[in-house]
Amino acid sequence: MKYHVGVISGDGIGPEIIREAKKSLDAVASRYGHEFEYEEILMGGVSIDATGYPLTDEAIAAAKAADAVLMGSIGGDAKTSPWYQLPADRRPEAGLLGLRKALGLFANMRPAYLYPELKSACPLRDSVIGEGFDLVIMRELTGGLYFGKRETGEKDGQKYAVDTLEYSEGEIRRIAIKAFEVAMKRRKKVTSVDKANVLDSSRLWRSVVEEVAKDYPEVTLENMLVDNCAMQLVKDPAQFDVILTENMFGDILSDEASMCTGSLGMLSSASLNDTKSGVYEPSGGSAPDIAGKDIANPIATILSAAMMLRYSFDLEEEACAIENAVKKVLEDGYRTGDIMPTTGSTDGLHKVKCSEIGDLIAERI
Ligand code: NAD
Repeated sequence: MKYHVGVISGDGIGPEIIREAKKSLDAVASRYGHEFEYEEILMGGVSIDATGYPLTDEAIAAAKAADAVLMGSIGGDAKTSPWYQLPADRRPEAGLLGLRKALGLFANMRPAYLYPELKSACPLRDSVIGEGFDLVIMRELTGGLYFGKRETGEKDGQKYAVDTLEYSEGEIRRIAIKAFEVAMKRRKKVTSVDKANVLDSSRLWRSVVEEVAKDYPEVTLENMLVDNCAMQLVKDPAQFDVILTENMFGDILSDEASMCTGSLGMLSSASLNDTKSGVYEPSGGSAPDIAGKDIANPIATILSAAMMLRYSFDLEEEACAIENAVKKVLEDGYRTGDIMPTTGSTDGLHKVKCSEIGDLIAERI
């Protein structure tokens, strides 16, 4: 099959990590007889330099036309980059917000997987880690407290501020469907996280999720209060498969879960809409401090490409081929600087550059 992939290399380490992800996609193409046609889309600082704007109508049209979008990262050093002298709506990050809005990306999916070889980077005790964990957080991205009506004012001589947490049935249903669809491709368990003992919006959330669950009889649904979930993530992370939750709870829980894996350079993510398309990107930023040095860890971007194959193109075997190649490279002892242990023995480990680990992964596909 032929796939049209929109590629946003972006700024900082973006072009380096994207280059390595393309190596893995090209290896998949030649092994499985596919063709990936890449179209570079300008966004972020590079777009400001070229056009004066972080995201143009032309870039939006190209992203919409692509079968899916693979992204590196955007942004620069806020203290030194001239991009941050511009008004907020002309800065690199405005490009990303604009893209999310234009594509209607309402679901953010972030896996947290602990590789046995990187156990030492996990801040949890061995007895808690056990055999490791492999979970996905499905976070609602365009509703809730961050987008509700807000107001700051003064009443009776005191300042006050109000934020509103609002969800409609439709907003809850579409993200719940995404979570159940993802669970069907995994271990078939959804934990829906809310605060239904206090919040009306959570009670609606719970009832809509329970309705959606009826269409997925193979998937086990469990409801969990957010405070309990925050505890359970550090007590027994292996119990989770897909965690489904609203915007702010998801913001907090996904950072907590990713911290449990211990390494930012390993974490992929996807932002999805109602179509099969989506934007796939590493969870980290553009790391201007290490840009251009060929030392960034490209694995999160390579794993994001694997997610794109699985969720946008339904290429399960090909996605697994990339994920297994990453596991093999780690088993073989190859590490970029960020995932080299800083204490203890490094016997049997080889420190390699961004381009080298990209080659080693592609060779193993
Ligand atoms: P960052 O994630 O870029 O960097 C934080 C630290 O992690 C740095 O020390 C960096 O060197 C390291 N790091 C990050 N990714 C790495 C990788 N793949 N390999 C090795 N080390 C890695 O966060 P920051 O410094 O707060 O932000 C830098 C810029 O990135 C800012 O302009 C910010 O707005 C932008 N940003 C963009 C995105 C995005 O494109 N989605 C996300 C977050 C931040």
